[in-house]
Amino acid sequence: MEELFFLSEDEVLYIQEKFSTPIFVYDRETMKKSANEVLSFPNAFGLTARFAMKALPTRKILQLFNSWGLHIDASSGWEVERALLAGIPPSHIQLTAQEIPKNLKELIDKGVLFNACSLSQLRTYGEMFPGTEVSVRINPGLGSGSSNRTNVGGPSSSFGIWYEYLDKVYEIANKLNLKITGLHTHIGSGSDPDIWVHCAHLALETACKMPEVTRLSLGGGYKVARMPDEKTANLQEIGKRILPDFLRFAEKFGRKLHLEIEPGTYLVARAGTLICSVIDVVNTGPRGYRFIKIDSGMTENVRPAMYGALHPLIVVPRNKKNSHKIDRFIVSGHCCESGDIFTPKRGDPEGLEPRELFEPQIGDALVVEGCGAYCASQSCKNYNSFPECGEILRLAPFEYEWIRKPQTLEQIIQNEI
Ligand SMILES: *Cc1c(COP(=O)(O)O)cnc(C)c1O
Repeated sequence: MEELFFLSEDEVLYIQEKFSTPIFVYDRETMKKSANEVLSFPNAFGLTARFAMKALPTRKILQLFNSWGLHIDASSGWEVERALLAGIPPSHIQLTAQEIPKNLKELIDKGVLFNACSLSQLRTYGEMFPGTEVSVRINPGLGSGSSNRTNVGGPSSSFGIWYEYLDKVYEIANKLNLKITGLHTHIGSGSDPDIWVHCAHLALETACKMPEVTRLSLGGGYKVARMPDEKTANLQEIGKRILPDFLRFAEKFGRKLHLEIEPGTYLVARAGTLICSVIDVVNTGPRGYRFIKIDSGMTENVRPAMYGALHPLIVVPRNKKNSHKIDRFIVSGHCCESGDIFTPKRGDPEGLEPRELFEPQIGDALVVEGCGAYCASQSCKNYNSFPECGEILRLAPFEYEWIRKPQTLEQIIQNEI
């Protein structure tokens, strides 16, 4: 059976009672710990760590990571502006985006850093700011996402400039007098240190063909275990394995490369919990399934429906006397959508795989663990006109503050004419 990460059962019931469900609870201590781990990533010649804010962009979260010394990786112009509004210094924000914002010039003038992700982006930037420094995102030809939907490198991914087009990069750079000082790769390398080492080698091979590069970003994608049998990337081990390559590179090419990493998942995945309430328990007869329905679903966490992602599920009974019977249940969300389930089959997002859970009563709490990354930020917001739920920050056991209030119906329809 799966277990709670940082809350006790009593705390779950206290939050369910005091705040309405569904609600996200983020643990400051867990985030602080992962921030420290990221900031102590072994490096030869200095490190800048960025929080990939698309994982969890709430203002207070950005401010916390900023106060602990992390910079920001933004995936759109809107994210850049959101970070600026949260008080993040422009020079601590780097934009790595599929779509160039319409106000790119204004953002760069403020001091935001730009990472060109395609040849046309490089040209657009260069025409706006000839004679300046810039970094480029290269697709090194290798990918390692956990599904074809999360794969961000290799020939099936459009992210970054294909590594064989370096000559085209320099054609543009020379014409517009750009100095390419940053090389960026992000292929989502998972937890296997061997793959990270391989990925660093590919990046360094590219860096040796780019004589003015002084900073090298290995991106994010450090895997975090959510389910009991999954493995978390060991940052110390990965960093220590890569470090000697940076030393050798410096010896050979006389360039001390500054290392950058930009995790999203690693910093927040285990720091967020979604607390829901059981709203119904139904079944489809002796040859069918038993279902637990909850007051949440793809409106808060679309990962199971979109990627077949698995999250620990824990029933917390309000009356402890009722907690003994275990059965296998499908956990289904509150949307009118058959794909809105939290128990997809492992490795087969279309399938169903009942989970062993305590048999709940209506009104009991059901906790979805590992909901810090890509849940609040990536949900099917307002589908079925469910308002976006609230988020609280846990400062200590039984001590919380609101960081995002629940949305109202009025806010859902406010722009309608
Ligand atoms: C999403 C993203 C990240 C973070 O990825 P995680 O898997 O959450 O660590 C880092 N860099 C870039 C460019 C990204 O798009």
